[in-house]
Amino acid sequence: MNSKKYFITAAAVLIVGVCVFFVMGNVINGFYFFDNEIVINILSVLSGILAGIAMFLFIRLINVKNNDKKIIYEMAYIDKVTGMMNKNKFVSEAADILMKKNDKYAAVVLEVNNFDVINELFGFDEGNDILRFIARVIERNLNEGELFARATASRFNILIKYDDNEGIKTRLEMIMDDISEYKGDDNISAKCSVSSCCGVYVINDESLFDNYSEMEFNISHIFGRAKFALSEVTGNYINYCSFYNEEIRSQLIYESDMEYALKNNEFVVYIQPKYDIKNHILTGGEALVRWNHHDKGFLPPDKFVPLFEKNGFIVELDMYVFEVVCKMQKRWLDMGLNPVRISVNQSRIHLFKRDYVDVLKGILDKYQVPANLIELEITETVAFESMDVIVDVLKRLHEIGFKISMDDFGSGYSSLNMLKDLEVDVLKIDKAFFEETSNTKKGQNIIESIIDMASRLGIETVAEGVETVEQVELLQGNGCDVAQGYFYAMPMPLEDYENNELINRRNVES
Ligand code: C2E
Ligand code: CA
Ligand code: CA
Repeated sequence: MNSKKYFITAAAVLIVGVCVFFVMGNVINGFYFFDNEIVINILSVLSGILAGIAMFLFIRLINVKNNDKKIIYEMAYIDKVTGMMNKNKFVSEAADILMKKNDKYAAVVLEVNNFDVINELFGFDEGNDILRFIARVIERNLNEGELFARATASRFNILIKYDDNEGIKTRLEMIMDDISEYKGDDNISAKCSVSSCCGVYVINDESLFDNYSEMEFNISHIFGRAKFALSEVTGNYINYCSFYNEEIRSQLIYESDMEYALKNNEFVVYIQPKYDIKNHILTGGEALVRWNHHDKGFLPPDKFVPLFEKNGFIVELDMYVFEVVCKMQKRWLDMGLNPVRISVNQSRIHLFKRDYVDVLKGILDKYQVPANLIELEITETVAFESMDVIVDVLKRLHEIGFKISMDDFGSGYSSLNMLKDLEVDVLKIDKAFFEETSNTKKGQNIIESIIDMASRLGIETVAEGVETVEQVELLQGNGCDVAQGYFYAMPMPLEDYENNELINRRNVES
């Protein structure tokens, strides 16, 4: 109780006590006809004191009740860290605002980048200070009829009025810039800057807010979409906003379907043959995955592989493709078809997984396929990430007997220098590199020296995306070993590869 409350309570107790004193004096006097004034006075004083105590207890009781109510209210509606409204209160206030349908709104999720690292490095107290600072920044930047609350440890939900994308972007950038101004006690910003990013979903469908009983679900749905837009940029960008759009929507659909698709054999493995460039004989094939989506039809890998690389599902998918290839090689061996080496694409994510080599070995053993019938294609960009890890993984893969190829050579910042550190058996020259350089004399010299250098190092060269007879002649002239491309054959289903390539080749040979 504060001093004002003490004063009011004391005054109330005194007034009630005095009133009761007088009343009781008259009552006792009137009813019982006591003529002893002393007794009357004692009884009146006692009654006054008792009434005062009763009054005091009554006021205490009301105060305790009010305090309890306050604690319950705070627990239910106040965020302990920021001291501002919490997620529950936010949902109910957002529901009230959205049901009025007076203005157009956007749902925004703001995330502090690398918050766990900040907590780890500077401790929870500093982390909480940052969250309080962010809450004040957001509060300062919001207008009437806009709301925010902390939704998870490092994430804030904001309901903001929408004019157009640019307008929202400018306002959010202002908030993110202000957040990056944070300076803690030890001036942590000097050591680690506080950056954030935002996902935005513009609320277009007002019918979501017709029914109060569905509001909680619908509000979590719109912020779910903003969160999904956020996942596009989290950690990748500093002070950046991403808007939910149709492309992200279809990714959402693909993501929800991918496990189902794997179980229901919707992923289909195609093989594109590779040929010896001198005599046009089949020397190998590359496994390329397609998705026969139950709803969307046949999807090429560029529609889903980049997404799966982001969400990690590519690990499962690559292993599935690897297993299909092992199974087929076993079948072709058993059929006496003398199969050729098949390459499978391996996402860079695998190389950083501890059990990667063991999992591959397990599948290989399951089908009893000689490892040299499998080639693992790894993109050249991986070489820039962590040379030590890659050198070690490639060594272990070689010990098992796999062939390794460096895919898309020439598409990035390739360097012939890295070939001396990485043990690779095959270099796949990227189609784009080939297109850009092959039409000038200088370009042709570059191709020639790459092929020459590779062959000196004992590395086989494969040209990808070969489409014309001129390209074939150029590659032949430069000593390239193998070609793959539409000029020879398109990627084809396994049955076609078996019938048209393997069985055909055996017939020609015999
Ligand atoms: P990539 O590994 O560079 O595969 C070669 C791509 O070039 C294939 O595209 C192939 O169909 C296409 N191609 C072949 N010959 C020609 C040609 O003459 N001209 C042109 N323009 N293109 C040709 P696809 O099948 O669409 O695959 C695209 C990419 O998706 C692949 O590029 C690879 O990076 C990725 N990918 C495919 N399957 C898998 C997989 O199982 N796992 C992983 N991680 N990635 C895969
Ligand atoms: Ca490839
Ligand atoms: Ca390639």
